[in-house]
Amino acid sequence: MQQAVTYLGGTNPYDNALKQLELAAEILKLDPGIHEILKHPKRALQVSLPVKMDDGTIKVFTGYRVQHNDARGPFKGGIRYHPNVTMDEVKALAMWMTWKCAVMDLPYGGAKGGVACNPREMSRGEVERLTRRYTSMIYDIIGPYRDVPAPDVYTDSQVMAWILDTYSQLKGYLVPEVVTGKPVHLGGSLGRESATSLGGVICAREAASLLKINMKGSTAAIQGFGNVGSYAAKLLHEMGVKVLAVSDSKGGIYSQAGLDPAMVLAHKQRTGSVVNFPNARSIGNDELLALDVDFLLPAALENQITARNANNVRAKVLVELANGPTTTEADTILERNGVFVIPDILANAGGVTVSYLEWIQNLNRERWTEEEVNTKLEQRMKKAFKEVYETSRAHNVSMRLGALVLAVSRVAEAIRSLGLWP
Ligand code: NAD
Repeated sequence: MQQAVTYLGGTNPYDNALKQLELAAEILKLDPGIHEILKHPKRALQVSLPVKMDDGTIKVFTGYRVQHNDARGPFKGGIRYHPNVTMDEVKALAMWMTWKCAVMDLPYGGAKGGVACNPREMSRGEVERLTRRYTSMIYDIIGPYRDVPAPDVYTDSQVMAWILDTYSQLKGYLVPEVVTGKPVHLGGSLGRESATSLGGVICAREAASLLKINMKGSTAAIQGFGNVGSYAAKLLHEMGVKVLAVSDSKGGIYSQAGLDPAMVLAHKQRTGSVVNFPNARSIGNDELLALDVDFLLPAALENQITARNANNVRAKVLVELANGPTTTEADTILERNGVFVIPDILANAGGVTVSYLEWIQNLNRERWTEEEVNTKLEQRMKKAFKEVYETSRAHNVSMRLGALVLAVSRVAEAIRSLGLWP
């Protein structure tokens, strides 16, 4: 029997992704055949993962790996462990990865993986057994020249190390380049942990210069204080931006004077959440998203800004660190209200960009300094921001549509040149 699925924000993210593709296709007058190809993932694998739990019982989890398009290079995309993971969510995320890699002009296609589970209620041993079983089940379709996974929500460098080990054990030799976002001592890149946030902050800075906002003394609110949100808070703070509010799945905190991200992180590491941080008041997600700040950075999950609350957004710039935080309906409202949206496929592309730099280092058996990595990241982010901005101006559309048009045109060009086999 088909299980009833409820999506965050009530919207199926795949419908959102298809609507976005349609908008770009219209502007590009895209060949209907190529549009049809791009609507469907090339491969969507669903697997059942029996795992022996610590109490001796067996639980069966459902896992997915979706490969959307590889016309520009091997598939690339993270793996998410979250109770709400569904096939349609993974399909949407895989499509967004195709666009993200194309916007950044990386030689990759798009993929995504996920397992419906709650790692916060599982022991490390249970997560390890789940990861190894999942890797063995997707073994045939991943590989350094085929599909290269990376971390996403509730997966980290340790999970990548287990994938790397399982894949390597099955191959018979060590294959570090099969995953990115792995620990540095196993070939991970310096700068990878902060890359997504740094890329987003570079975009915020570029937008600030366009909109004549002085970063120093400006204000920000961040939804989600995980890997991406906490680094973004730290980087903004270092640039003199006042981080007024942050939140996580348990709640949010606000301080008019600005929060010290390092102290909030220490508090979260100690207590498991940002809530009850001293000298800050509690704040809910609705209030956080409606704060009168220069920069609003959603860094949690999709469908947070919807037709229901988009009118309340008062930020000047929306930096989409999360994937798919804004629905298509909300986009229209934000555009009408003059909010400058830096779309996810650009704003959070720092992660996949440094993943690419990690893969290059692995394939060439090289090691770069953090400074080298960050310099290359900055060059690529600035170039992509400029290209997206110019595309949006050329078509007189939002940055979101500009990014999509740029990405879809690049992928379509590759499909056209490759032709259709047979
Ligand atoms: P993470 O698991 O480290 O952090 C997620 C955070 O979101 C946690 O702090 C969690 O408590 C919080 N959260 C969950 N539900 C929430 C809610 N309802 N309200 C407020 N906070 C909530 O994950 P991450 O790697 O930081 O990823 C965050 C987002 O960034 C995701 O959308 C992910 O797809 C995207 N992203 C991540 C990377 C990366 O390199 N990690 C790259 C690109 C995009």
